[in-house]
Amino acid sequence: MADLGIPQNTIEVLQKYHFRAQKKYGQNFLVDPGVLERIVDAAGITDADCVLEIGPGIGTMTQYLAERAGRVVAVEIDKNLMPILEDTLSAYANVTLVNDDILKVDIGRIVEEENGGRPVKVVANLPYYITTPIIMGLFESHVPLESITVMVQKEVAERMQVGPGTKDYGALSLAVQYYAKPEIVANVPPNCFIPRPGVGSAVIRLTRYQEPPVKVEDEARLFELIRAAFNQRRKTLVNALGNAAGIGVAKEQVAEALKRLHLPETVRGEALTLEQFALLAGELQ
Ligand code: SAM
Repeated sequence: MADLGIPQNTIEVLQKYHFRAQKKYGQNFLVDPGVLERIVDAAGITDADCVLEIGPGIGTMTQYLAERAGRVVAVEIDKNLMPILEDTLSAYANVTLVNDDILKVDIGRIVEEENGGRPVKVVANLPYYITTPIIMGLFESHVPLESITVMVQKEVAERMQVGPGTKDYGALSLAVQYYAKPEIVANVPPNCFIPRPGVGSAVIRLTRYQEPPVKVEDEARLFELIRAAFNQRRKTLVNALGNAAGIGVAKEQVAEALKRLHLPETVRGEALTLEQFALLAGELQ
């Protein structure tokens, strides 16, 4: 099958199958061989790897992955794409196609079956409408994985990478940075896709830490505090946490904890590092 990274080949496949990209599934097909190579390079794919691809579309990146990886498992929600994928990937014996919703399927079981429970590499040009639930779902479910290399909306990539004191810093930055080291590896303009998305895109690599960079007794408590702090990000931490349902601490307790951490009583969540949030979680256990 012809290289679908070349725009004309993608157009031909779409025409052959009378396939129209579905907005509701975030379908924007990547048509730039340079960007495709860049993604597979950034993910460091070798024949020792089992790759989990989310949303193969018509199989463009799947082709590039199958050339280099030992195995590729691709999970696609749109059943209308399955006959196309069977066709465009017919030359590759190392690809398994799964027609399912990545947010519902048991990824742990797939990794167990396809890679004997050893860590996989996730590579994808993600559907942008569910970027955060996909990434957080992968981390929080503790599926064995080495890295996640994905195309996402540019602003979202920036949010994952920034530190305190910037407007993009928030719950997503802290959650991602608790689990992985983020690195933006490429910026990708809309004209690299058919159809063109209305936003700029970026490729980000998240390399999973063996051990989180901070130690906490209770992970769930840490994330509860982070979410509460950024739910009301313009408020001071004393007010945001003291007011929050389910947190179960009084304003005075937050104020005392901040004092013990040598932080000002008027500090906002957006000024705290991951380490400071971890210390605060310890104080408010
Ligand atoms: N990988 C292809 C490429 O690079 O050209 C397509 C990428 S397109 C941005 C996103 C893909 O994810 C689409 O094929 C879409 O149907 C699929 N998708 C959307 N929601 C999904 C879900 N919940 N589970 C699995 N795949 C999904």
